[in-house]
Amino acid sequence: MFDSLKKELSRRALLHKAGFGFMALGVTGAVGHIIKPTRTLAQAGPAPSNEPSLPPEKKLGWAVVGLGKFATQQIMPSFGECKRSKLVALVSGDRPKAEKYAQQYGINPKNVYNYQNYDSIRDNPEVDVIYIILPNGMYAEYSIRGAQAGKHIMCEKPMANTVEECQAMIDAAKKANRKLMIAYRTQYEPYNLTAIQLAQSGKLGKLKSITSDHERILNPKDPVDIWRMQKKLAGGGSLYDIGIYSLQATRYITGEEPVAINAMMYSTPGDPRFREVEENVNFMLHFPSGVLANCTSSYGYSSTKRIQVFGSDAVLELDPATDYYQHRLFINRDNQTEEQKIEEKNQFALEMDHLSECIMQNKQPKTPGEEGLQDVRLMNLIYEAARTDKTIKV
Ligand code: NDP
Repeated sequence: MFDSLKKELSRRALLHKAGFGFMALGVTGAVGHIIKPTRTLAQAGPAPSNEPSLPPEKKLGWAVVGLGKFATQQIMPSFGECKRSKLVALVSGDRPKAEKYAQQYGINPKNVYNYQNYDSIRDNPEVDVIYIILPNGMYAEYSIRGAQAGKHIMCEKPMANTVEECQAMIDAAKKANRKLMIAYRTQYEPYNLTAIQLAQSGKLGKLKSITSDHERILNPKDPVDIWRMQKKLAGGGSLYDIGIYSLQATRYITGEEPVAINAMMYSTPGDPRFREVEENVNFMLHFPSGVLANCTSSYGYSSTKRIQVFGSDAVLELDPATDYYQHRLFINRDNQTEEQKIEEKNQFALEMDHLSECIMQNKQPKTPGEEGLQDVRLMNLIYEAARTDKTIKV
């Protein structure tokens, strides 16, 4: 079952080792100097070698499924900055809301679907890609139905509640010969790509340790957090929702997969928010090169989105590391801290255009289903390590 996953992960490790993020960004400059990306991932398009060039005006049609906070406030407005992707359809359980957004975005009312007639999207040639932004527990069903309708799939994180669901999603996309990408936006975001390049090129010396912290307060009065308190819809607690960024960071900064996991988990007794899902998870990962990672994830204290990378020569800090905008990157060398400014890009537009380009050029996306499956698998091992109080060998 994990053969294809292993193959995909070793391919990704090779890409990381080859400085894929660096090349894609076209970053120039050295530590201590301002780094300006000359080309973004999406703008970079095909490498100059043997890939066909795309007609400049070509855009694929996208449908967004689930018109919640993230979809309406970040994703839908970002189509305006896409070069290869346009919003042409909506899927929602709330018809008046969907009609309001259809009007705002100039979408033909015939392209507004609900969850019952969703499958009939197969008959709509305007839709090439379906972007699913629902509660986590719904991803498997809507990705599989979308692939069976003959559409390519972008699925938000975390990919699904269980490893089995992730595998079923991968299988369905393969069977339908469609692409499946997980929307790991930080792997398309210039500050994170620069951090990967600096860490993997040896500019920090030999990598020793990573810490990554992701926290926010779960608000039971906020509609977006109500389903996050329910295990069936959320899959897990803070780890599934935001700790996944801490986990992702350790994997893309090292370009490696962890070989051992320790963890502790704690939820405030009697707090009704944490009846079904956990509040806090702290976990440690051991990577083959010797890097040790120390990660936190919490729903109990205020907003943190930080990554720190400790090398033998310098320390890199991204804070905020995984926000939507206004990231900051610092390098501390010889007790002197310098901030590096990098041109901000719309990471949502970059990731959507990446999938559109992969479809047009028949390439594997950089963050395919196997990447999402690996995180779900590791998060379940983190839970197991916490439950059993044992080191889990991966
Ligand atoms: P919301 O609750 O705001 O949106 C979820 C939407 O799903 C709802 O608005 C609703 O849309 C639809 N829905 C269908 N069935 C249900 C149900 N039973 N309960 C609740 N909603 C339902 O959540 P978010 O926008 O915050 O998160 C959605 C997804 O996006 C999550 O998987 C989350 O992890 C991911 N996310 C990713 C981020 C990133 O940076 N990559 C940031 C934030 C979230 P409708 O009314 O149209 O049917």
